[in-house]
Formats: sequence, C-alpha cells, structure tokens
Amino acid sequence: MTLFETLPMPVLAERMSRVKESPSSRVADRVRAFQEAGREVLPLTIGEPDFDTPDHVKDAAIAAIHAGETKYTSANGTPALRTAIISRLRRKTGQSYGTEEICLGGGAKQLIFLVFMATLDEGDEVIVPAPYWVSYPDMVTVNGGRPVIVGTTAAEGYKLTPGRLREAITDRTKWVVLNTPNNPTGAVYGEEELRGLADVLRAHPHVSVLCDEIYDEINFGARPVPSAVTVAPDLRERVFLVNGVSKAYAMTGWRIGYGAGAASLCGAIGTLQSQSSSCPSSVSQAAAAAALDGGREFIDRTVRIYTERRDLLVAGLGEIDGLRPTVPQGGFYVWTDASALMGAVTPSGVTLTSDADLAEHFLETSGVVVITGDSYGFPGHFRAGFALSSDTIREAVAGLAHSVSLLRR
Ligand code: PMP
Repeated sequence: MTLFETLPMPVLAERMSRVKESPSSRVADRVRAFQEAGREVLPLTIGEPDFDTPDHVKDAAIAAIHAGETKYTSANGTPALRTAIISRLRRKTGQSYGTEEICLGGGAKQLIFLVFMATLDEGDEVIVPAPYWVSYPDMVTVNGGRPVIVGTTAAEGYKLTPGRLREAITDRTKWVVLNTPNNPTGAVYGEEELRGLADVLRAHPHVSVLCDEIYDEINFGARPVPSAVTVAPDLRERVFLVNGVSKAYAMTGWRIGYGAGAASLCGAIGTLQSQSSSCPSSVSQAAAAAALDGGREFIDRTVRIYTERRDLLVAGLGEIDGLRPTVPQGGFYVWTDASALMGAVTPSGVTLTSDADLAEHFLETSGVVVITGDSYGFPGHFRAGFALSSDTIREAVAGLAHSVSLLRR
C-alpha cells in the first residue's frame, strides 16, 4: 500500500453544498453534447458581445507588454486605471470619487463575490429581486448570507417597487441588489423609480445597495442610464456601484471589473484581493484604462447594431402564438413569457410541465437553445440573447416558430 492510498481524499467544505454550477455552464455542456452528436444548434444562450475587442484597446495591451507593465500591481489597480475609472464615473454620475473609493476585480463577477465575502456574516440577508442574474443567490449563500428573493411582475416592468422593498427589509438585511439594465429582463430603472427606492432606504440606514450597472452602455433609451448615486447623492456611502469593461467594450475575456463605494469596503476588497489573487492582470488593466479613456465610437456603433437585432428578435418572437417578448431597454437579451405553452403536448406525447421540458422541446425539434426562466428564479419564461448576427436571429426565430407549431394545445 502506498502512502497516497492510506490518505483520505480532501473532503469538501460544507459551504460547497450551498453553491451549484452556473446554469450557463450546464447549458453549454448540453449544447456541446448535441454538437458532438452532429446536430446543428442555434445558441440564443449567448451572454457576451460577438464583436471583437476594439483595436486601440488591443494596441494598448501590446504597448503595455512591451513597456514592461507585466508585474504585480496594487491590489486595487494601477493609478492609470483608477484615474480612468474616476473620470468615467464623474462623466456618468457627476460624483467625484477618490482613489481609495475605487476597487478592482477579475471581472465584475469576482468583485461582487468579494463584496459579499467582505460584508456578510452568517445569516445576513440580501434582497434579490427576481428575475435575477443567476449568480447573485449562490454568491450570497456561499458567503454565509441568505438571499431573500423578492418577486416582481410584468406589470411593474420586472422592477422592484418601494412597497416590495419595504416589506422585504428586516433587521438582518445588509444589501439590496439592483441590476440596471437588468439581465435577464432588459429593465432599466428610471430616475423616479430610483428616487422611490432611495426614500425607503433613508428610513433603513442599515441597508446598502449593490448597483450592478455592467450593461449601462448597452441601452436603448436615455443616456446615461440613471444611477442611484446620481438621484440620491446623500446615500453615496451606502451605494456600491459595480461596472466593468466586459460588455461595453467586448472584453469578456480580459477580466476587469470595477467598483466604487465606501473607502472601508474598497479597502477590505483590496485586502481580500491581495490574499487571493494579488491583483487583476496588469496587461488587462492597461487595456481597460485605454477602453475607458477612449472615444465612444465603438459603443455608439455596436449599440446601433444591437438595436436592429433587438427589434428583429422582439418582432419575430412576438409573431409566435404563445410567446410574449418584453422589449428590453438595455442589455442584449429578450425576456419572453412562454407560460401559455405550459400544458401543451409535444409530437412524442410529452406534456410540457416545466421550463426544462420546454427547453428540451426547442432543442430537439429546432436546435434552438434558450436559458429558461427557472434559472433566474422566474419559471414559465426564457431568455433569448441577441448578441448574434441577424441571420442567426432569423434562423432561430424560424426554428422557434416551427417548434411551437408542433405543439398540441
Ligand atoms: N453582472 C451581470 C448582471 C452579468 O450579466 C454579468 C456577466 N454575465 C456580470 C455581472 C459579470 O461580468 P464580468 O464579465 O465583468 O465578470
């Protein structure tokens, strides 16, 4: 018997039972299996821009490599990047942040994770309006917190109302998460709506707001997207803004996200960053600074293209009997109510009783892949992404129309 055979396997921590794989990764596995079997798929699951990173950003990264900017940086980023972030925040919110009020993550995703790690004690509550981005609840639970899921309705534009917020707040509430523009619904909170929520928060000083604004540049209405700090500057210390370069500049693989908020929280995040990754990639930081400091041509051009694609997908889905798409105000997803199809029967005799049944029917009969509503805490719906060519969108719409036409209702 060797030494290794006598040792037990590393036993996973209890906290691992509180986190599951992201639904997007699960869907990606299913798609891969389908493709390996030689079937064509139309992935409306896409969650990243299909554009290339702008050339001036790539050039800045290459220049940084040649200039030797290839070493550890401060945990909260290089001065150049922090300055670029501060300027961007001033342009957007009118607020002047100090460098100690800025922090960095390996993507907005890691940053949100670190916010919860830095602030949640066992049993602390985080209010998460549904439909929600898939990662929030798991990030809360793995860090010892308790997600408090608060439903919204189509009539309310899938937005948290002051009344629902007030009802959900307890003595243990630490955060409320606001994601605007929202993934998956495309909802954008207007100034009046944010003011209403701010009024509730003024009455509950122990509650802070995590504003995930990662899609703020991809919006089809008034620019800039209203921000909680702009409408309620008195709450600035309790508002933590999260943003990044992934979506706006087609830089998902570069992994740079940033946060702005209380210096104490940014300091804590820097400490966690210094003990876990040291810092985000120095080369990616140089690229992100160039993106934020650069002109708006890339964003203006891509938003024009996204607008055409959005209109194409919304119109196509709207013509399919049984589907009710919501027109997104931002982001690149169309949230679609498919509840009218529940109870319908497929050609092979299966009665659709769950989101999984519906997704499987689409995949089997037309190869179209969507992410179902239950992943976002809102069954009977699905998210269809439009960061895809117009031809692919047309093909996918035709596929979905075919799949739905096969159902007996
Ligand atoms: N927040 C939301 C709402 C998102 O959809 C995403 C990306 N899917 C993120 C945060 C994370 O973005 P990043 O690539 O910067 O980690």
